[in-house]
Amino acid sequence: MPRGTKIVATIGPASDTLEILVRMIEAGVNVVRLNFSHGKAQDHIDRALMVREAAKKCGREIAIMADLQGPKIRIGKFEHGRIDLKKGDKFILDANCPLGNQERIGLDYKALPNEVKPTDFLLLNDGLIVLETEFIIGSEIHTIVKIGGELTNNKGINRQGGGLTAPALTTKDREDIKTAMSFQADYVAVSFPKDAADMVLARQLADMAGEPFDHKPMMIAKIERAEAIPLLQEILDVSDGIMVARGDLAVEVGNATVPALQKRMIKMALACNKLTITATQMMESMIVNAMPTRAEVSDVANAVLDGTDAVMTSAETASGKYPVETVQMMAAVCQEAEKSYACELDADFLNARFSRIDQSVAYGALFIAYHLHVKAIVALTESGSTALWMSRRNINIPLFAMTPSRVTQRKVALYRNVRPYELPYHCDGETMMKDAELILLEKGVVKIGDTIVVTWGEPIGKIGGTNALKIVKIGG
Ligand code: PGA
Ligand code: MN
Repeated sequence: MPRGTKIVATIGPASDTLEILVRMIEAGVNVVRLNFSHGKAQDHIDRALMVREAAKKCGREIAIMADLQGPKIRIGKFEHGRIDLKKGDKFILDANCPLGNQERIGLDYKALPNEVKPTDFLLLNDGLIVLETEFIIGSEIHTIVKIGGELTNNKGINRQGGGLTAPALTTKDREDIKTAMSFQADYVAVSFPKDAADMVLARQLADMAGEPFDHKPMMIAKIERAEAIPLLQEILDVSDGIMVARGDLAVEVGNATVPALQKRMIKMALACNKLTITATQMMESMIVNAMPTRAEVSDVANAVLDGTDAVMTSAETASGKYPVETVQMMAAVCQEAEKSYACELDADFLNARFSRIDQSVAYGALFIAYHLHVKAIVALTESGSTALWMSRRNINIPLFAMTPSRVTQRKVALYRNVRPYELPYHCDGETMMKDAELILLEKGVVKIGDTIVVTWGEPIGKIGGTNALKIVKIGG
């Protein structure tokens, strides 16, 4: 079996040459994440073009995910770039402070003093520094340092328990959406959505910006606010997928809560036909070391067993010393973990109730494929929707999404177990099926005499119109 779990790699200064990108794609990257928290619009445009060029060189379709910065609240800059805070120190977060020092620091979110209450814990730099709020006067939040350490410019601030109301889509995000649509990013990841309305708005903005290019991106909600947790189902309903954004989420809800939440999120997403990306610190030590820790290897493997569509790298590939090795290692860990994937034609699957024709065909194909031990399932698809239905259940048989649409090939690059291939359009379904067989033969996926299951829609070329299923003997 080829690897089924996909790899999303964040690129940055450590990986933005054509040569390294090509090596990363060869090592197994399926989706490239452009992190809009860093860099200028033109940097992202240049990188997107480079990704497309690298993908072409490798003969594979790679999706591009534009990850918006969102309303991450940050402190300002210090006079000398940094300070040291000690337990028990008094420290002021002051919305009106232009340049910080040992006593106080500025804030980019001017409304923060209105939203914080005495006794609130504020966590800086991903929770490494903890401040307890004593009182608020005007623009100043007076705090006592509970856990100290080095504090440098522009570090993020979270409130334990969440609940800060900064709107999800900032002015910068709205501009960045336009930039991302100018190169037709396949996915847009929205940072810090607090409810479904934030995702609905983000999709509207993206669809509007994509209109001149006739492009509608897939929308991923990054789950990283405490208040998004009780609203998970509503958020899933209006998104194409979610990111288990463990970095910020852990700061808001507490480290210990995150592993169980990860499992719950992935399960919920699979059940409602949505995608998941498991993110942050997966191979953290590979930023500086050529080998991951045992704990990191276990973390990646466990995300695979949880059923995630993709595992993600952040600084490991954006600014670390071993971007290519990180991807190689992740790919190897995923592939090994998949060998112990349980087959998921369980009671839930057998008892599933559905009324959609495309879903019935997709599930029927899985059932047949499993019992006949076929070599592959092939979805001749316009939008990739049948492949999505099928990829929500694991039966240890590879799925191929064959489509004339380049956009669909890129989109399904994130779907667990789905491999995209280009299949030129033909008005006759039988001809397309023959062409699909030839491609599988050519790629060495099947040989003469093997059996496969094929799904397609009559008439050919209609989106979401899958209504047919055929059991095909290759060469027969
Ligand atoms: P980030 O999001 O890398 O943009 O912060 C992911 C996370 O918070 O885990
Ligand atoms: Mn985050």
